Amino acid sequence: MLPYLGGDWGNPSSSYRFGSKLKKVVEEARDQVAELLGAASSREVLFTGSGTESNNTAIHAALMSRSGKRHIITSQVEHSSVLSYCRYLEKHHACRVTYLPVDSYGLLSLPGLENALTDDTALVSLMWANNETGVLFPVEEIAALCRSRGILYHCDAVQAAGKIPLNLRHIPCDYLSLTGHKIGAPKGIGALYVKRDAPFVPLLHGGHQERSRRGGTENVAAIAGLGAAAVLALEKLPEYGGTVGPLRDTLEDATLKVIPGSSRNGHRDLRLPNTTSIHFPGVESEALLLLLDQGGICASSGSACLADSPDPSHVIAAMNPGEAAHQSVRFSLGWNHTADELDQVVSSLSAIVPSLLSFQA
Ligand SMILES: *Cc1c(COP(=O)(O)O)cnc(C)c1O
Repeated sequence: MLPYLGGDWGNPSSSYRFGSKLKKVVEEARDQVAELLGAASSREVLFTGSGTESNNTAIHAALMSRSGKRHIITSQVEHSSVLSYCRYLEKHHACRVTYLPVDSYGLLSLPGLENALTDDTALVSLMWANNETGVLFPVEEIAALCRSRGILYHCDAVQAAGKIPLNLRHIPCDYLSLTGHKIGAPKGIGALYVKRDAPFVPLLHGGHQERSRRGGTENVAAIAGLGAAAVLALEKLPEYGGTVGPLRDTLEDATLKVIPGSSRNGHRDLRLPNTTSIHFPGVESEALLLLLDQGGICASSGSACLADSPDPSHVIAAMNPGEAAHQSVRFSLGWNHTADELDQVVSSLSAIVPSLLSFQA
């Protein structure tokens, strides 16, 4: 990234010689992201400013190109960038939105989805992996079902990218979102996959950048960073699950053992290898996070995008009607965490949780 923050200051869309040099940088990064996605062509990759923008763009594109159809299907556990946009469309654009429930494991019912499809359905937007629990939705089956009914399908794969193989050549998904800062690239860069035959209408109208699909001068340094992160993620992918999964399992098993009454949120196996969400009965998650943070341990309740709101987790609430939505903490591991660090997390928890319980009692 550094050359494009320093000396190489040109605009990739300009015709002077710096321009064509930077255009190559952007196109190389596009190839690299396409490779991570297993896309058929790099022409299917569009750079955006965030996962949020990718999600909004896909929903907008589908709705605008299916004029007349006003029904969207999504789930109760999507990221706020899907849910808030759907609520906005309900309120201001006369759309009807179905928010599919999940079961107590966080799993989605395919027959439930099939029953919700109507002749008025423009789009199904269902995520690949949940950001709070890591639970996976059956994307291949969802995509095949939507394709068979002529309904567009958008997948928020922000959490799945770089952690499990995506292989979009073989999945008939029309739109798919990812973001840089969840795969080791900087914040403020995202990508949207648009399948070759999927209709598209831009969200941002302006210049001819991104083949007229997204106006705005390209953020070359961040794009180069996303390309490099995609290469590294793809390189690590074959060993990622085998390295991170056992560490996550050790952390989870040890925690459930030392904290009486604690339990896992989400299905044990049908989830990403790096995420664990744990319910600590009787413990306010915000208090626990504060004390963990004092010990140098960064974890979260709900989504960081909502961290300044005291609301309970909408994801955990959709799975469990009790108090778990206020009393759960999510730990996400990177490929570089060590067993020693995770031991420290468990010993911190075994000191903090009983002290909070006695304080609250
Ligand atoms: C982080 C996240 C987003 C939003 O990405 P930003 O780049 O922060 O806008 C969307 N969906 C999921 C599942 C996420 O985890």
